[in-house]
Amino acid sequence: MRVILLGAPGAGKGTQAILLSKELKVPHISTGDIFRSNIREGTPVGLRAKEYIDKGMLVPDELTLQIVAERLEASDCRDGFLLDGFPRTLPQAEALSGIVDIDAVINIDIDQSVLKDRLCGRRCCPKCGGTYHVNTLKDSLCPACGAELIIRKDDNVQTVTERLRVYNEQTVPLIQYYEQSGKLLVVDGNQSVEDVFAGCMVKLKG
Ligand code: AMP
Repeated sequence: MRVILLGAPGAGKGTQAILLSKELKVPHISTGDIFRSNIREGTPVGLRAKEYIDKGMLVPDELTLQIVAERLEASDCRDGFLLDGFPRTLPQAEALSGIVDIDAVINIDIDQSVLKDRLCGRRCCPKCGGTYHVNTLKDSLCPACGAELIIRKDDNVQTVTERLRVYNEQTVPLIQYYEQSGKLLVVDGNQSVEDVFAGCMVKLKG
């Protein structure tokens, strides 16, 4: 199955993507993760992407499309994949439609008033990819795998504000784009992780 996960930054896409990719047995492809690993390794892609990511801006479409097209060519994507954080602009969605047919697009719909607090209090596990809110943690270790949690560089008030502005301007139009193609499934993101996951599975099976 070829699935796209849409949703505002902080809506829980990453958390749901980990659960859904296990359940659907397809690779989880997060453009944000690919950029961050390129930044850690100091590759030319990473060096270019960092300039934009640190400011809360989108990485240019041409560079983003290049990394996605390369990733989708890998053999593990032959029977499906789950895209998390891509596409984020109309040109990206149009380019994707020229490469593969998508089966479903899940929009995790969430009340935006909670997002700033979620993102600014977010702690991420560099080992297993889990994300948590600082208020729910008893120490600085990942409850799932025990690794030291980190704060993403772009999870600060100023960058978060810009990321939400960019989301509303550039990514929200994709909701209508996929609604028109009849592939959009909307799941209420203002629920527990388990309920959002169950909602995604019900809609996908529907
Ligand atoms: P994420 O981990 O999905 O929140 O992505 C982190 C950052 O990576 C974003 O704020 C963007 O700067 C960049 N990024 C990730 N995916 C894309 C995309 N599809 N298009 C452009 N920039 C992206």
